[in-house]
Amino acid sequence: MRRPFIAGNWKMNLNRADCVALARAVAEQVAAGGPVDVAVCPPSVYLDAVAQAIRGSAVGLGAQNMYFEGNGAFTGELSAAMLLDVGCKYVILGHSERRALLNESDAVVNQKTKAALAVGLIPIVCVGETLAQREGGQTRQVVTTQFDGSLAGLTNEQMSQVVIAYEPVWAIGTGKVATPAQAEEVHAELRQLLASRFSPAVAEQVRLQYGGSVKPDNAAELLSQPNIDGALVGGAALKAESFLGIIAGAKA
Ligand code: PEP
Repeated sequence: MRRPFIAGNWKMNLNRADCVALARAVAEQVAAGGPVDVAVCPPSVYLDAVAQAIRGSAVGLGAQNMYFEGNGAFTGELSAAMLLDVGCKYVILGHSERRALLNESDAVVNQKTKAALAVGLIPIVCVGETLAQREGGQTRQVVTTQFDGSLAGLTNEQMSQVVIAYEPVWAIGTGKVATPAQAEEVHAELRQLLASRFSPAVAEQVRLQYGGSVKPDNAAELLSQPNIDGALVGGAALKAESFLGIIAGAKA
């Protein structure tokens, strides 16, 4: 049985006080031993403050990015060990905004995924097609290429630790949510890829999140699909009420 997993990606939003207040509001409402894993992913400069705010709660901490090298002359970058040191359990990798705006390739996502796993961080690896790719009938091919490139060379044991987020680019921050059927179709394909590239047991274990304009009013239906095990939430994670509403949808 895969535990539902809802993660909030706060992106480059909020200030320190907002982050702490939001983290506290979420942490107060997420019960320990509850049926859903929950994480918040603040901007990296506020990771430490948020770590303090959620200390002792059931909410996990995630970063939005990291570099694959261990340490050294990499100005501006953060290593996996640094994220672990500040209290992170998760790290989002290969988000479409990073792929599109910062030219992050599948090969780089792959190096980052391996570096995260090496220190015990759980990578949330994002894949997803653009609108032009979907309209061109290329969704399956694009997602397969991203899957193969980003997850190349992982052992079955490593793969079973990874979370994959399917985030159609056209649904991110646009209010255009994929229908449950559209999302489920790609999630089912990802599950098949896990079985064929790794093993049926790995496919059963790996959690697949949907991301793209998830809101309290569409979460329950998306999350009730057989291959959708959670959500990666952007805009609706910036308010405690809407994020908690989505978490409630995962329990329904
Ligand atoms: C995201 O960027 O991961 C995301 C899913 O954003 P939104 O929920 O705002 O579409």
